[in-house]
Amino acid sequence: MINIDLKNRHYEILEIVKTQGPITSEHIASLLNVTRSAIRADLNLLTMSGMLEAKPKVGYMYIGSVERQKIADYLNAVRVGDLKSRPVAITDTTSVYDAVVTMFLEDVGSIFITNEAKYLSGVISRKDLLKAAIGGSDIHQIPVGIIMTRMPNVVTVAPADPVVEAARKIMEHEIDALPVVEEIFKDGQILYRIVGRFSKTNITKLFVDIGNKLGGGLD
Ligand code: ADP
Repeated sequence: MINIDLKNRHYEILEIVKTQGPITSEHIASLLNVTRSAIRADLNLLTMSGMLEAKPKVGYMYIGSVERQKIADYLNAVRVGDLKSRPVAITDTTSVYDAVVTMFLEDVGSIFITNEAKYLSGVISRKDLLKAAIGGSDIHQIPVGIIMTRMPNVVTVAPADPVVEAARKIMEHEIDALPVVEEIFKDGQILYRIVGRFSKTNITKLFVDIGNKLGGGLD
């Protein structure tokens, strides 16, 4: 963007485009009670200085909203499947002690739990394990299936879901991670095959990615 001396007329045009854009030059001119040719030079200057963008067949847009729109378009195009991590899962008969060991070895904050048939049956987090550990029972004996958050209360996402939807679920339910699942219909039942893990870390990585891309433009 280059530095230019703005006149009142420029500020009026910017305000109109900011609040009503995308807007055609005819419309801007009519709101200012002038002819279209009277503002042609002003619009050229605002466009060349990078404050407005002229979109053919659409009209003038304030550059701030163009950038916002680019970020929104980019975010809406990213799917859970593009970002998901490898899932960490154990069966519901695993002891709380072994779940703690797995959590340390795999460096995750929650572990997905599967039933005998290897479909999702629950999820267990750090606090679930801590609660069991300070509860006084023998953590070598208690299976995670007893203390886990179980289906149908587990919040899941599908690979084709937009990441914004996954982030909204994480926020709304105040949890750290979601199992990414594919639905399987079997004997009149819906079963969930775990195909990934989507966590706050994935969102943080995306955030950094967007920051880097914006440095060089999102196009
Ligand atoms: P932390 O234990 O560190 O607070 P979370 O915030 O992820 O970790 O978990 C909080 C509670 O929510 C725990 O009881 C856990 O079992 C449950 N939980 C974690 N992930 C999910 C999920 N995807 N769906 C439903 N409940 C979950």
